[in-house]
Amino acid sequence: MPADLRLHFPILAEQVHGHPLVWLDNAATTQKPRVVIDAISDYYLRANANVHRASHALSARSTHAFEDARDTVCQFLNARHSDEIIWTRGATEALNLLAWSWGSSTLKAGDEILLSAMEHHANIVPWQLVAERTGATIKVIPITESGELDLAAFQQLLNSNTKVLSVTHVSNALGTINPVKEMIAAAKAVGALTIIDGAQAVAHFPVDMQDLDCDFYVFSGHKVYGPTGIGVLYGRRDLLEAMPPWQGGGEMIDRVSFSGTTFQKPPFRFEAGTPNIAGVIGLAAAINYLNAQDRTRLAQHETMLRLKLEQALDQLPGIRRIGTAQDKTAVVSFVCDHIHNQDLGVLLDQQGIAVRTGHHCTMPLMETLGLKGTVRASLACYNTEADIDHFIAALHTILNETI
Ligand code: PLP
Repeated sequence: MPADLRLHFPILAEQVHGHPLVWLDNAATTQKPRVVIDAISDYYLRANANVHRASHALSARSTHAFEDARDTVCQFLNARHSDEIIWTRGATEALNLLAWSWGSSTLKAGDEILLSAMEHHANIVPWQLVAERTGATIKVIPITESGELDLAAFQQLLNSNTKVLSVTHVSNALGTINPVKEMIAAAKAVGALTIIDGAQAVAHFPVDMQDLDCDFYVFSGHKVYGPTGIGVLYGRRDLLEAMPPWQGGGEMIDRVSFSGTTFQKPPFRFEAGTPNIAGVIGLAAAINYLNAQDRTRLAQHETMLRLKLEQALDQLPGIRRIGTAQDKTAVVSFVCDHIHNQDLGVLLDQQGIAVRTGHHCTMPLMETLGLKGTVRASLACYNTEADIDHFIAALHTILNETI
């Protein structure tokens, strides 16, 4: 199955430094299937026009495609209404939107913002900025040795001052899948708002807003086989309706006057300016592509590859895997005793193998682990056993040459 699937992703036929490309940097960004590339170029070839504004045919075409894409995302997330889907530039912008719009208008001194030690900077820094402005304080759920959230500590941190819980569904650095459904229920029991960062989840397993029952969920298109520059904020309709706009400009207004401006309802209230129309259409194509696959088989395939990779790494001298949670996506982080992460990344690249090295935008997590960073191999549905074999063989050679 993956051999056929690979053919859908033209870039995977590339050569790098004279070697076939082995793309193991999927947690940073995924490659795009031809249907996504075609949908973007078709849009520019046949439909390019600004949305919602004009009476002409091309604007009708682009507006239809744009709003159909909102329905596609609504179904993908099993949200109740498509006006609960807001386009953003990515997960980062969606989290900033929440911190600025909801956070600045609601939080006050004494309120607590509950995050976890494994958050991406995108789910830390916006809250630090809003905490500085409002006087709210940030509390952090610690992690266990295996790289899982310490749920007993989480329960103890929850109290009537907890106004928001914002945690990642899946750790981008370790691959840990967090038990967010239980955490959402516990946070709601103390009256806290719940935000889930799904940037590393949506490409690997289906997510269901009605089942999770979170208030907000965010993700980025480019990590789910879609284009860069487009992302999604899902928000419960009643909560979005009560939130003030965060950016002003075209499209988000009802009526503008120098004596006072009124705003559209969500989602448009939060979509100031000309949106990334091609990105929206590309994202819908990516979701349709994923929906056309057997997602259970894809997940099984990714797990099979991860276990193969983990077992092979455990045989190599001087390699220590970081993050050994039971419930994981296909992210494998490790450090090597005698080679600096970045040097290892460069040596692997010379053999056509792309991995990520460094702190993975999780500096607080690295500090907790007592590390400067890790080497991270992250897998996607199009990776194969041959990719793992190449990677392990290359690592073997590098280790032998450097010992
Ligand atoms: N959250 C997590 C868990 C991530 O892995 C990332 C990106 O690596 C982000 C948020 C930010 O995503 P983006 O840079 O696409 O906005």
